[in-house]
Amino acid sequence: MISVQRAQQLIEAHCPPPQEENIFVSAARGRVNAHDLKSPLHLPLFDNSAMDGFALKSRDTMDATFENPVLLNVKGMIKAGDAGQQIVLRDQEACRIMTGAPIPRSADAVIAKERAVLKDGSLAVSSPVLKGTNIRHRGEELKKGQKVIPKGTLISPGTIGFLATLGIERISVYRAPKITLITTGSELVAAGRPLAAGKIYDSNTPMIRAALEEMGIRPVFIRKLVDEPRIIKKILAFALKESDLIILMGGVSVGDCDYVKDALRRAGVSPIFWKVSQKPGKPLYFGKKNKTLVFGLPGNPAAVFTCFYEYVYPAIRIGMGHKGPYLRSGVMKLCKPVQADPEKTLFLKGKTDENNGVVPLKRQQSHMISSFCEADSLVVIPPSSYGIRAGEEALVHSLPHFMDG
Ligand code: AMP
Ligand code: MG
Repeated sequence: MISVQRAQQLIEAHCPPPQEENIFVSAARGRVNAHDLKSPLHLPLFDNSAMDGFALKSRDTMDATFENPVLLNVKGMIKAGDAGQQIVLRDQEACRIMTGAPIPRSADAVIAKERAVLKDGSLAVSSPVLKGTNIRHRGEELKKGQKVIPKGTLISPGTIGFLATLGIERISVYRAPKITLITTGSELVAAGRPLAAGKIYDSNTPMIRAALEEMGIRPVFIRKLVDEPRIIKKILAFALKESDLIILMGGVSVGDCDYVKDALRRAGVSPIFWKVSQKPGKPLYFGKKNKTLVFGLPGNPAAVFTCFYEYVYPAIRIGMGHKGPYLRSGVMKLCKPVQADPEKTLFLKGKTDENNGVVPLKRQQSHMISSFCEADSLVVIPPSSYGIRAGEEALVHSLPHFMDG
C-alpha cells in the first residue's frame, strides 16, 4: 500500500507528454494553447470613431467659445462598415460619423453627438475640440506581430472572442485524450430500466461521464459489463487499442468476482500500483500499456468520486497541458470536529461557507452518495492518531463545477 502523495507522483511520472492538434477556435474552449501566439493584425485595425457624432479638423475649433461658436459645414455621413475614404473634409467642414466608422483621412477629432448643436445645417462648436478626441487609434491596443497569447494559456470564451477579433479561425492546442469508460458489475441497471431483485442502479457511469463532459471530453467508448472475465478481457483488448486513457469502475477489490485486475494482466497492462492508504478508494489500481493509462477505481460511488477527482482528473489535465492539473486547493477552518485515521488519508465531502469555513457533510461512507448533491469540495485529513477540532485548519480541494460555474 502506498501513500496518496506517492500514488500521485507515480501517475505524474507515467503521463505521456501532451500532444498537439490544430482545431477550430470555436471548439477550443477548455483547451490549452500549444504555441506562443502573435497578433496577425493591428488592433484597432484602423482609426475609428469612439462615439456617434461629427468628425472634424481640430484646428478649425481652436478659437471656439460659448459666445462665438465656430460654425462647420456638415457634409455626408460615414457609417460603421463604410470604407471611409469617400469623404475628404476641407477647412470648416465636418461630417456625421457613427461609432466604429473609419475616420476620414483629413479629420483628426470627433465631437460627440450629445455635445453637438446643429444650426441651419451647420455644426456649432462652442469650445475647442482637441486633436485625437474620441478617436480609437490604429494599433493603440496592440501591434501586428506582438505576442498576445502565451503558450499554456487556457482558452476561455473570452479568449475565443479575442482570437475571433484577430480573424484567427484555427489554433494549435493540446489534444484531449481519447477516454474509454467501463463499468463492471452484474448488479447494475441503468436508470429508467426495471429493477429486478438484487439489482441496483448504476450511478457511476452517468456521474463520471458528466464529470468528463464538464472537462470538454466525450468518451470515445462507454460500456457496462457483467462480472464475466471473458467479456471484460475482450472489451479491454479493444479499449486498449482505441484509447489514451481507460477508466474502469468496480471489480478491482479482493472479492471473488473482482476480475478486473486479472483481465488487465492478461490484456498486457503493467500494474504500477494497487491500493493507496486512503478512505474512500483504498483498492485504487493504476497501470499502463504502451501509452495508454489505465485506472481501476473501486466501484463504491464515493470511491469513484474521490479517485476520479484526486487521480484521474489531474492525469487527464496533465495530458491536456494544464499548468495546474490538480483540483484547486486552499486552507479552511473546519466547522465541525473530525476523527482522523491513524494510517489512511481521509477525503471527506465538504461544503464551504462564505466565512472561509468548511463543513464535513454527514453520510461519508463509501456506499453513500446523497452528500454528493451538497458537496462542493473534498476535505483532506492526513493520517493521524488525533482528531481535528472545530476551528482548526484543513486542506480543502474545490470541485471544478463550483469553481468554474
Ligand atoms: P466493487 O468495487 O465492484 O466490489 O463494488 C463495490 C460496491 O460498489 C458494490 O456494492 C457495488 O454494487 C457498488 N457499485 C459498483 N459499481 C457501481 C455503480 N456503477 N453504481 C453504483 N454502485 C456501484
Ligand atoms: Mg463489482
